[in-house]
Amino acid sequence: MHNYAAPAFNAVSGKGVYLHDDSGNRYLDFGSGIAVTSVGHSHPHWVQEVQAQTEKLSHCSNLYAIPSQHKLADRLVEKAGGSGKVLFCNSGAESNEALIKLARLHGRNKAGKENECFKIVCAHNAFHGRTFGGMSATPQMKVQDGFQPLLDGFSFATLNSIESFDESIDKDVAAVFIESIQGEGGIFPAEDSFLKELRALCTEREVLLMLDEVQSGIGRSGHFFAFESSGILPDAIGMAKGLGGGFPIGAIWTADPYVELFQPGSHGTTFGGNPLASSAANAVLDIIENENLIEKVTRFSKKWHDSLKALAEKYPQLITGVRGRGYMVGLPLNTDAIKVTFLAKEKGLLVVPAGKNTIRLLPALIATQEDLDKSVQILDAVFSEIS
Ligand SMILES: *Cc1c(COP(=O)(O)O)cnc(C)c1O
Repeated sequence: MHNYAAPAFNAVSGKGVYLHDDSGNRYLDFGSGIAVTSVGHSHPHWVQEVQAQTEKLSHCSNLYAIPSQHKLADRLVEKAGGSGKVLFCNSGAESNEALIKLARLHGRNKAGKENECFKIVCAHNAFHGRTFGGMSATPQMKVQDGFQPLLDGFSFATLNSIESFDESIDKDVAAVFIESIQGEGGIFPAEDSFLKELRALCTEREVLLMLDEVQSGIGRSGHFFAFESSGILPDAIGMAKGLGGGFPIGAIWTADPYVELFQPGSHGTTFGGNPLASSAANAVLDIIENENLIEKVTRFSKKWHDSLKALAEKYPQLITGVRGRGYMVGLPLNTDAIKVTFLAKEKGLLVVPAGKNTIRLLPALIATQEDLDKSVQILDAVFSEIS
């Protein structure tokens, strides 16, 4: 159907940080399939684990216990501080649907009945996916247009303004739901101090603090979860994109007091966390651990961010800033982001447009200092051509 713009090329293979087309060109892939191929393309360990799993068992449904899924759940619980539980699904939007359902159940418990405490406060400029729940949490005309009426009960406050969230949390609010770093909206991190205040506010009002880490999670920010820099723990986390390294899988983590909200029959999924998906995600976590990727992202991104800031200073009429954390960076532009994306591709670098005239740089976590330097050189050539 016609919902995607004309593609730039036929993608046929990939190796590490490079994506290859069918005309023999290779591109330094700083889009990573929109923050998905977290350990690069066709990483030998990932390929081996996925291949081995297909030879044993690809799918059996959640009617039966899946050892690799349990292993993955334990590892994610560990990443979230050692308590709580995990539920699997297939995508970011689906993880957010599960979080919205969790909020509804919490609201029912809080009010003692349904329909009284069901509202969810999200942030302006958010993106939470394309399903009806996800769209309803995404206050953007280009996402919602044509699909009214949406799901009831969403209101919006200003990211990084605690006053704005304070005003929005009435007694009929069950949850606050925000991205730790807004991705599609143009790379806007929630500040650490804001997250701390929001955590306290949500606790005080008995409102769930749910963080969408679908894009920012799994190491991309230089922490396993982007909220970690603030020192807080949310009540629930949504993840997907980078978790499977290219195999579709999503998950939610829920803190201990709320794990009982879902009871047998409350929610379900045919595919979620199947043996193949779980082995792909376990392989991603193996690689992140074995290759110290989170530590490398933190270390390498310092110089990269400095170089990008220097680039912004070199072309102040074209680049108006550098935003983001780790390997999740946005360059807001004074020139057409689509054109810059095209010119970068012509010079061998893939980037992704986002928000209002911003380009996003989302390299795989395996990107080396050399790869990062090369991205800056190519962007320099692009902006030099435009100016
Ligand atoms: C991409 C994204 C989603 C939607 O994920 P899908 O897998 O495309 O459904 C939700 N939230 C955030 C923050 C995202 O970046």
